[in-house]
Amino acid sequence: MPEPIVVVLLPLTPLWTGDAGQRGSRIRETGLLGSLRWWYEAIVRGLGRYACDPSDPSSGPCVYDENKSLASICLACQLFGCTGYGRRFRLVVESNGDAGNPVTVKSKQSQTYFESLNDRTKHRGWRIPPNVAGPFTLFVHPMRPGALDDFASAAIYHTLRFIERYGALGAKTSHGQGVMKITDWSTLAALMETDAWIGAVGVRPAKAGSNPQPAPNLSDFIGATVTLDAAATSKDNWWQAIPLTGLERFSFGTDPSWIASAPALRAQLRGWLRNNANFPGFNGDLRTERHSRMGTIQAPVGPKSSDIFVTHLYKAGDQWCMRIFAFVAKNGSAVALAVRAFLADPAALKPEIRAGLGAIPVEVATFPTDVRGLLTGEGEKEV
Ligand SMILES: [Zn+2]
Repeated sequence: MPEPIVVVLLPLTPLWTGDAGQRGSRIRETGLLGSLRWWYEAIVRGLGRYACDPSDPSSGPCVYDENKSLASICLACQLFGCTGYGRRFRLVVESNGDAGNPVTVKSKQSQTYFESLNDRTKHRGWRIPPNVAGPFTLFVHPMRPGALDDFASAAIYHTLRFIERYGALGAKTSHGQGVMKITDWSTLAALMETDAWIGAVGVRPAKAGSNPQPAPNLSDFIGATVTLDAAATSKDNWWQAIPLTGLERFSFGTDPSWIASAPALRAQLRGWLRNNANFPGFNGDLRTERHSRMGTIQAPVGPKSSDIFVTHLYKAGDQWCMRIFAFVAKNGSAVALAVRAFLADPAALKPEIRAGLGAIPVEVATFPTDVRGLLTGEGEKEV
């Protein structure tokens, strides 16, 4: 058998790869594969190629046709497989420990809001895994010799690298889970330079077509890394300022490496999306727009996942950070354009995030706004 590619990942916030109701929380290969594919589709679409959406049967997932060969399936299916065409690799995870059974956290801001509506029942809180597990190892086994050429291996590299810099891995990523750092790339890094790989994406034979809508596309990706004021976070128990109920159920100790803070920021963003003053010229139904951006289980918009992602707070070196990012179409509604402008503007983001965290001062560095920059990290401010 060909040698596997070995990559070591360190979760910075709990990594969740289970189903919604699933007890326990060991890292599941299927959950990682689903997440990797989802991000790779976004990259492929962002680079101007077609990627089908296998989660939506109506969008026409690829089916391999012997006569047309690779031109019959999209670049994502060429790596992750589809009907008639096998996945190029097998993923095996070796890990110790797990994320534990989720704990409920409630936002004080959301509680107040629902109480103001005389509706206490609506705010059920967020279920957050209590543990960040230790490092784990990914073994990427080619299905047979030659099944993973340099292009395919580089595709895995660039997907992981992007997630490490700007995204999050696994499930529940819009609610804080899945920030990770890669501590050992072994042979994966050196296979293909970013520009060469981007060039190859443009010319590889693959199915053409217009991309499914809506579907994540890196050209719609926008976001920022937030860093917390070092003086504020050097005080004992500084995170108790974050307006959440339930944090006491986590064993953060005196020197935590993460804080389950995402619900507080999501509540703040919902508040921002409720404020008509943020959307001059918009006369539509702001509630529908809010549900569509932040996700909802309620009809008629839902069930729909969130387009806006907020990570928990995590420690990178000595620095406390979080990320906020979103897929919002550049040619969308007036609300979409306002959300894009907001996420691109540190001066607008800073006071909202500071308020969401209970008055902890922050700095904001926006992500690169072009797809190449997102893949190379150029234009990024390292934290
Ligand atoms: Zn496909």
